[in-house]
Amino acid sequence: MSDYLSSWDILIIGGGPSGMMAAAAAAGEGDLRVALLEKNSSLGCKMRITGGGRCNLTNVATSDNFFSNIPGNAKFLIPALSVFSGKSCIDFFRKLGVSTKVEEEGKVFPVSDQANDVVEGLKEYLVRKRVDILDQIKVSELIVEQSVCKGVVTENGNRYFAKKVILATGGASYPATGSTGDGYLLAGMVGHSIKNAIPGLVPLVFRDSNIAKNVQGISVPKATITLLKGNKKHSTQKGDIIFTHFGLSGPAALKISREVSSLVNQGDEIILLIDFFSENKDEELLNKLSTLAGQQPKRKLLSILKQLIPDRLAVLVFQMLRLDLDKNAGETGKVVLRKIIDYLKKFPVELSGTRPLKEAMVTVGGIATKEVNPRTMGSRLIEGLYFAGELLDIDGYTGGYNMQIAFSTGWLAGMSAKESIS
Ligand SMILES: Cc1cc2nc3c(=O)[nH]c(=O)nc-3n(C[C@H](O)[C@H](O)[C@H](O)COP(=O)(O)OP(=O)(O)OC[C@H]3O[C@@H](n4cnc5c(N)ncnc54)[C@H](O)[C@@H]3O)c2cc1C
Repeated sequence: MSDYLSSWDILIIGGGPSGMMAAAAAAGEGDLRVALLEKNSSLGCKMRITGGGRCNLTNVATSDNFFSNIPGNAKFLIPALSVFSGKSCIDFFRKLGVSTKVEEEGKVFPVSDQANDVVEGLKEYLVRKRVDILDQIKVSELIVEQSVCKGVVTENGNRYFAKKVILATGGASYPATGSTGDGYLLAGMVGHSIKNAIPGLVPLVFRDSNIAKNVQGISVPKATITLLKGNKKHSTQKGDIIFTHFGLSGPAALKISREVSSLVNQGDEIILLIDFFSENKDEELLNKLSTLAGQQPKRKLLSILKQLIPDRLAVLVFQMLRLDLDKNAGETGKVVLRKIIDYLKKFPVELSGTRPLKEAMVTVGGIATKEVNPRTMGSRLIEGLYFAGELLDIDGYTGGYNMQIAFSTGWLAGMSAKESIS
């Protein structure tokens, strides 16, 4: 291959949202030669399945709210988000012909409800800006000489040279989409520290699967779930939950999963307390249950409880508390009623952990942010090397935050690489 054919000004590795946005920023108005290398045969494989195929591409939350939805290293993102915000993202896509709409909780989707339209819009822009899109090329090594990045080596041994290289290879979740954690190896080989990659935004698994099977399919709105480490409260989330055949899913469970993953990693015993009635105080509930019991003394206590919670959950509570299924409400004292309410406010389940990384919506951990300049996304160790997207140790909750992280860091990396050349 001639030098011209194998060398560029800026080389971007990974054709997900962060890599594509980096290429868009790098190509922009200038005349730099930019190439995007992707190991799959098409760009944005993961992006096409985001938001259930609709792509929740950002969120219109105010900046405070935005950062509170980024539990992993939010501060690092301040410069990137100020250069390319949620609003910039909406404007950018509108100019590409992808109009968006805002749904509940500020989530932004394309009006067409088609994630493919977002990917294709970006791709067409890159083609118009004459970015060389080289697919089915897997990068297996970075070329670094005297702490300067000079290019990459591909799996089949080709060497591609560039003045600047942007690594945007994603995390390690949903590996079938191409995100197999290659970036951790590539950056690790040139001296970057990698914070352990663990699953985030993933369902929780109960140690006793029988508990889960008994209540599978039951959903509870506005529950509060609290994670205990030892006997101490570790973290809490409030939101809808749904029991599955192995454990717990739903927004609150997904949000707390990054904490569960990290405790599993530390080898701790993990207890989750579920408050099924987080909107009601204990005494209020106790009064409600005793009033119901007082009004129907001849009915079984179990059927009274079923007036408050789903049938199978009521049976499970009886089993767990070893209560007599045949006892009438009129024969039940306040101590037992209080015991039931205490249980419903602090329903304890032991967790064995979470579903695996390959099923997680996001990877927690990644390239240590202290080794990356947040104002440029440039490596503090290797000159000419930049990072963008989920391979960095940053993660957000559901709601469009992870896609915006990818877009903002991608844009900043692309702009910085371009400005450092021109
Ligand atoms: C099911 C699911 C639904 C989601 N829904 C949403 C949502 O609605 N909203 C939201 O904000 N977030 C969502 N996310 C998270 C979001 O998709 C990711 O955070 C985002 O895609 C990360 O972008 P990225 O560019 O950093 O990495 P990726 O999208 O993972 O892209 C990395 C790219 O690099 C390529 N690559 C990897 N290694 C190499 C190599 N060695 N050589 C060349 N190329 C390589 C990969 O093939 C891939 O195309 C969802 C995730 C999943 C799994």
